[in-house]
Amino acid sequence: MSNVREVDVVVIGAGQAGLSSAYHLRRTGFVPDRDFVVLDHSPGPGGAWRFRWPSLTYGKVHGMHALPGMELTGADPARPSAEVITEYFDRYEQTFDLRIRRPVDVRAVREAGDGRLLVETSDGSWSTRALINATGTWDRPFWPRYPGQETFRGRQLHTAQYPGPEAFAGQRVVVVGGGASGTQHLLEIAPYAAATTWVTRRPPVFREGPFDEEAGRSAVALVEERVRQGLPPRSVVSVTGLPLNDAIRRGIAEGVLDRQPMFDRIIPDGVEWRDGRRVAADVILWATGFRPVVDHLAPLRLRGPGGGIRLEGTRVAADPRIHLVGYGPSASTIGANRAGRAAVRDIRRLLADEPLAAA
Ligand SMILES: Cc1cc2nc3c(=O)[nH]c(=O)nc-3n(C[C@H](O)[C@H](O)[C@H](O)COP(=O)(O)OP(=O)(O)OC[C@H]3O[C@@H](n4cnc5c(N)ncnc54)[C@H](O)[C@@H]3O)c2cc1C
Repeated sequence: MSNVREVDVVVIGAGQAGLSSAYHLRRTGFVPDRDFVVLDHSPGPGGAWRFRWPSLTYGKVHGMHALPGMELTGADPARPSAEVITEYFDRYEQTFDLRIRRPVDVRAVREAGDGRLLVETSDGSWSTRALINATGTWDRPFWPRYPGQETFRGRQLHTAQYPGPEAFAGQRVVVVGGGASGTQHLLEIAPYAAATTWVTRRPPVFREGPFDEEAGRSAVALVEERVRQGLPPRSVVSVTGLPLNDAIRRGIAEGVLDRQPMFDRIIPDGVEWRDGRRVAADVILWATGFRPVVDHLAPLRLRGPGGGIRLEGTRVAADPRIHLVGYGPSASTIGANRAGRAAVRDIRRLLADEPLAAA
């Protein structure tokens, strides 16, 4: 095959998970461009943070962990996290000379036939001995389907397109979803909107007290167990519950966070429940989360009967050449850091023909 470049490791994605992996590859002696490449389809640094809405200031981000080897210090909490973190990732890439290749869109990964993997991209192909997939979830917003959705005359948008609260001035907004994004959207939009309605499938779970390490560990363990069984992961954030902070308390007291059960159908000018109750709406904002970006791995048939990809640690159980970093239990900034290190340690052993560690 012509024009196929050979490396030992391809990292797909340069968010927290991909950069952590690249850092550990470099530290263990892998040389960028010669031994490994990092491919990212974004126009610039920042991973998904680059695209987060302007009103998500750095001060509102609850648990952003710095990347390994370089602290993020002195950031102004009033600035958008999209700017702060994009600048930090940019500095990080320069400092550790990670040479991210972008924009390079990975379209498919398939067997190369010689024990290697073929990574097909918008910029030609790479043949590699190992693969770290660190593509996150941002590019795959999840929109549930409801009867009548196509008849709605208003606007529907997802968290991934949230433009900030001013865009909803004078409008009647239905926010769907019981996670951190949904509640943040409601608290921001309510002062501008003519009316807001909050609907969630399950009653929200508010969490009293600080979110300590123990709580974090048990949240991660829940997701880890699903992934070990080959089930589709839930996001870590979805199992941590909603912190009962001052803003949330105020939202509950003022009736902004007055949760209604999920509506049963969408009608041209709003939403409707089975009992005939209706709420008029100009906008439905779907704060319904994201799914892992793994479609480009489909030719490898990694999905099991449970619908997910079974992992041992970060390693794909069915294919030790492949690691999913920032997936399932490691889909948090701290998890992505740790997973990058673990994946690199494991890949080093694989490439050196040493026995792999039990997960
Ligand atoms: C609104 C919001 C707030 C959050 N706040 C927090 C928080 O406070 N603390 C926390 O720990 N976590 C938070 N999270 C979770 C957070 O997303 C993760 O912790 C982490 O930032 C994700 O990093 P990542 O590297 O896995 O993914 P991303 O940052 O999404 O990076 C993935 C990269 O892969 C690239 N990519 C994707 N597909 C391809 C392809 N086919 N080819 C080439 N490149 C590709 C993308 O361009 C992107 O740069 C939040 C999530 C959301 C949605």
